[in-house]
Parts: sequence; C-alpha cells; structure tokens
Amino acid sequence: MITNIESLWHQVCECLQKQLNTDVYSRWIAVIIPKRLESDKLILAVSNDFYQTWLEENYLPLIREAVNRVHGRNMHVQFEVTPVVPTDPATLAGVSPVPKKIVHSRKASTPGAGTAMTLNQKYVFGSFVVGPPNSFAHASSLAVAQAPGKAYNPLFIYGGVGLGKTHLMQAIGHYVLSKSKAHVHYLSCEALMNEYIDSLQNRRVKHFRDKYRSTDLLLIDDIHFLTRTSALQEEFFHTFNVLYDAHKQIVMASDRPASEIAGLERRLITRFEWGLVTELLPPDFETRMAILHSKQKTLNISMQEEILTFIASHICSNIRSLEGALLRLASYASIYQKKISMDLAESLLQSLLEQEKKEPVSINAIQHNVADYFDIRMADMTSKHRSRSVALPRQIAMYLCRSLTSASLPEIGVAFGKTHATVLHACRRINQKIIEDQQIKQSVTKLSQQIDNKKVITLRR
Ligand code: ADP
Ligand code: MG
Repeated sequence: MITNIESLWHQVCECLQKQLNTDVYSRWIAVIIPKRLESDKLILAVSNDFYQTWLEENYLPLIREAVNRVHGRNMHVQFEVTPVVPTDPATLAGVSPVPKKIVHSRKASTPGAGTAMTLNQKYVFGSFVVGPPNSFAHASSLAVAQAPGKAYNPLFIYGGVGLGKTHLMQAIGHYVLSKSKAHVHYLSCEALMNEYIDSLQNRRVKHFRDKYRSTDLLLIDDIHFLTRTSALQEEFFHTFNVLYDAHKQIVMASDRPASEIAGLERRLITRFEWGLVTELLPPDFETRMAILHSKQKTLNISMQEEILTFIASHICSNIRSLEGALLRLASYASIYQKKISMDLAESLLQSLLEQEKKEPVSINAIQHNVADYFDIRMADMTSKHRSRSVALPRQIAMYLCRSLTSASLPEIGVAFGKTHATVLHACRRINQKIIEDQQIKQSVTKLSQQIDNKKVITLRR
C-alpha cells in the first residue's frame, strides 16, 4: 500500500498512460493534480468544473480502477475544483493548445472557420440534384440562404448517412457568402466541442463566446454529437438564445430528429424544433439516375446508360455510395483504358453491392448473439450483476455495439440500463483486453463475424 500521494499518483498515471492514447492522456489526465490522500479517499484537483464533469462522466471508472490496482485496496476517488492562476497557455500541464480530435476522427472543418475556405467548393446548390425525397429540404435551405434569420429559424435538417445534409448546409454557407459580407461559421459539432475545450484550457472562453455569438450564420453539422458533454450543451443553449434573439440564422444537421437524440436536454430539443424541421429521405430510382447523370457530367465521363441503370437499381441506400460506385467504375475504365461491360461492373462493385444487401446490425441482435455465445441469460445484459462471468460478456456486447452499429454512447447505455460513462469504460477495457488476451481477442473477432454476417441471429424469448 502506498501512503505517499505523489508516488501513488505517479504510478496511477503510468498505468493510465498505457491504456489511453497520448492525445486523451495529455488532455484529460496530465492536467489532474493529486491533492489529498485520506484513509479511503483520494482527492484530485482540476482547474474548472468542466474538467470535473467531463472526468466524472467519462474517466472516473478507469481512474478508480487504476488507483485500486496501484494502491491495492478499494478507494473513493473524488474531484474538486481548484482554480489555478492563469499561466502561459502553452506551458499548461503539457497540454497542447492545438485543437485535437477527441472521439471521432471525422472532422468536417477546421475550427476557426468563418470564411469560405472551410467550405467544400463542390457543395453548392447548383450541384444538388433535386428530387421528391429531398425537394422540401432543398427548398427550405434555399429559402434560408436567401433570407437568413428571416425565413425559418432555426433550420433543422435531419436524415441518414450520405443523403446530402452536409451538402445542403454548406450550400447555404456558400450562397450567403456570395451575396453579403456576413460572418459565416460552418463547423461540425465535434470541432465545436474541441474548440470549446481548448478555450477552457487556454482561458479563452470569452473569446469563444464572442466568436460564436457574433456570427450572422451559424451552421453546425452532426449536432447529434452535442450530447457528449453537458457543459457544451449549456454553452450552446446560451449561444443559441443570443443568436436567435438577434435574428441571426442557425442551421443544424443531425442524423435523427432532435427528440430522438438520447441525452439531449429538453430545452434544446424544444428550441431545435422552433423553426423548420426538414427530413432528407433516401433517393428514389429517378433521383438516383438524375444524380448519376449529373455526377457523370462533373467527372467528365460517359458510361453506358445500361450501366448507370444497373448502379441506380442496386445502390439505393445513400448518395455517397452511389457516387463511390460511379467513381470506381470510372477509375477502372480510365486506368485500364477499357469499356465497362455489365459483367465487369458487377464484379467491380461486388463489395458495395454486398454492403447494400446487409441490414444494419441492431443492439438487440448483438445482445442476443453475445448471450448465446457465452451461454448467459439475455436478462444478464441489463442486470446489475458484477460477477466476471456476466460482466465481461456484457462489456464485450457494449464494445460490439459501439463498433458494429452507429448508436451513440447514451443510446447503448439505455439499451444496457447503464450510463454512457459505463459504456465508454467497457469499450476502453475491451479495446485493451483485445491486445493483452488472446482468448478474448478470438471471442470478439468470432462474434463480430457472426453478427456482421448475420449467420447466427437466433432470437430467444
Ligand atoms: P450527409 O452529410 O447527409 O452524410 P453529404 O452531404 O456528405 O451527406 O453527401 C454525401 C455525398 O453525396 C456528397 O458527395 C454529396 O455531394 C452527395 N449528394 C448528396 N445529396 C446529393 C444531391 N441531392 N445531389 C447531388 N449530390 C448529392
Ligand atoms: Mg454530413
């Protein structure tokens, strides 16, 4: 048992450093200062309550586990806020002032947007093909672009992956910038969160606030990620109010309606629905054909009509895949100087077509498969039992939900009767176990294959 707090914390840090990636470690753990060690309690200090909440919500189980392992007995771990005197931002506890990615790597833009530079030149109204499944979303976006802050505020666009949400949002941005000197900010929710965290670390929250509260058009993409932190929800709530009251335009895109975003505060849901809510639906056959024709023109290629029909009849779920298919055939034709025949198209697009046939994996199916595999009851997936025989399969199931479905942490949490922090902890733990433990690695690989191929989805009552 270690009684010296410095050496205890030093060893805990070594332990955590092995489990977390460098980015996460330097952002979240290196900034903690060990404060006091009481008989059964370790008190850790952080510089503001955002850190406290974030650490408690996301890393507490992991830290506690490391403390217990190092200390050799069960300890309570508690955070307290001890404001520190501002220092040079760059020297703050090894924290880099450069914005970094936190969870997902898909960053739609560089934080610090505000000019057309961060918008993709391709995403303009002119290149957006309008058809019945997207005509309402398109008309609403155009109306907003023509009269920002006046037509519909906020505009909330939602729909599945690859259906044109980002394209429409950026088209609004381009349009407004081409007609005025308005301040436009387009960024993903993830980038917004990173920028907010950096502003906290660098004592520049005021700057962050001023920046977003003085914009004329705020475009936030993938807003469904806003649930990751309650502090950002709070911040966004106030920014929203300031902009809304000043008749500045807000546009948001999400993969689902606001009311279905698990963990999103009620007051935000209400606000997101104040203006116009519009849905993008998967394209019908005619729209798919029209998109292929339009992309063909842009790419300056010409494919036989029969081939285009083949693509449009088989790739239905999203426009990104549709583009991908056309591009694949076009590149092949150009590299090998070959005309694409039907047989060739079929074989070149095989993997895309298979992908298309697959139904998305559900959380429920994962739970059933894992329960079957480990021969435990389905009820154990949601139970509070902590014995290893149940806890490990449950953690594996959570991990698989995270990697095989697009469900968010809070959604997975709800399905397992746990908090999103528990899910996060489970994912990290299994990630680590896969490296250390050959048997667990095999089980996880086997289960992923089973579930992904939908070979053994036996539903038990
Ligand atoms: P989302 O943000 O909904 O996931 P994107 O806006 O990124 O989807 O669209 C995916 C791809 O499909 C982009 O390359 C986009 O230009 C293209 N796309 C989507 N909808 C259309 C459309 N109606 N017309 C032309 N291209 C489209
Ligand atoms: Mg998008």
